[in-house]
Amino acid sequence: MRQAGGTGLAPGSTIGIIGGGQLGRMLAIAAAELGYRCHIYDPHEAPCAADVAAVFTRGSFDDAGAIAAFAAACDVVTYEFENLPTAPLEPLGDKLQPGTRSLVITQDRAVEKRFLDEAGVRIAPWAEVEDEASLAAAIDRLGPPLLLKTRRFGYDGKGQAWAHAHEEAATAWEAIGRRPAVAERGMQFAAEYSVIVARAANGASTTWPVSRNIHEGGILRRSEVPPGPAIAGQVAEAVKVAATLAKRLEHVGVMTVEFFACADGPVVNEIAPRVHNSGHWTIEGSLTSQFEQHIRAICGLPLRDTRLTGGAVSMDNLIGADVEQWRALVAEPGAHVHFYNKAEARPGRKMGHVTRVD
Ligand code: AMP
Repeated sequence: MRQAGGTGLAPGSTIGIIGGGQLGRMLAIAAAELGYRCHIYDPHEAPCAADVAAVFTRGSFDDAGAIAAFAAACDVVTYEFENLPTAPLEPLGDKLQPGTRSLVITQDRAVEKRFLDEAGVRIAPWAEVEDEASLAAAIDRLGPPLLLKTRRFGYDGKGQAWAHAHEEAATAWEAIGRRPAVAERGMQFAAEYSVIVARAANGASTTWPVSRNIHEGGILRRSEVPPGPAIAGQVAEAVKVAATLAKRLEHVGVMTVEFFACADGPVVNEIAPRVHNSGHWTIEGSLTSQFEQHIRAICGLPLRDTRLTGGAVSMDNLIGADVEQWRALVAEPGAHVHFYNKAEARPGRKMGHVTRVD
């Protein structure tokens, strides 16, 4: 590893990023500002992060040989996506930041919930579901309505189905493809929010002001800072929870904890072991973006101040055909537009985002 006087990776070093979507793209842009070169590894032909990176290797996430060769060409390796097979990553050791522990725990909802239970944080009452009979037992024990979620490969509300009554168990089980799942009690909450935390190898950590997250059809539509009164009163507790979880994961880099603002306090929904859509506003809205802070953490540079640059901030995702409004958006004074340059604007696909800082 090329060290700058033993206190961090020197400019000119190469950062490997596994996953070439918009998160990898924004990480690569932040890394370039610090003088690093990025090498993207992704199975697709032309991932959008490759546009802004020095090198792109197309390879499968389970090809241990290809991943070893890619890692050998990098000074440090990170990921922007948690659904990665971990066996090909184990040999990377400390070169992989964050490590495989964060992946193993967060890529399987049952493992993640056991980790959260052990950490003593509040989550929705839950049960493992392996078949229709265990789903029926979960409905008896937890009471409807239940939200059934596949243990693996769920994102943006995919792989989820509600069971509002016993009679809906079979349809819900069918709807998630009869795959190993968890069932959670449907929670009542006033709002959703996320705490994004960056943790350095020496244990130092920072968080950002918290955003309220508004979802539509399971996809994040908008994030707003400040988050409003329902959330403000419980932020201090949620920030403590997020910092504890980052420490217990021995996480190095940025990670995100999503919460429900319930009447009696914060309830953890899930952890993403990476930069997060609900933190895109930090590019213009904070003194240090989540992307720069992640690069700093994994390269061993000091973490920076995360205070707001101005007042209120909003971030709106451009989903599917929303991106067709690009002419109006680029003409709007004060709108910071980010287009990801994805070829096809399929419904539900995140094509860009726009941030407005008051
Ligand atoms: P997830 O993929 O776990 O983030 O879930 C997607 C969305 O479904 C969340 O942002 C919530 O709006 C909703 N949701 C997830 N879990 C629950 C729950 N236990 N009770 C009520 N709503 C939920």
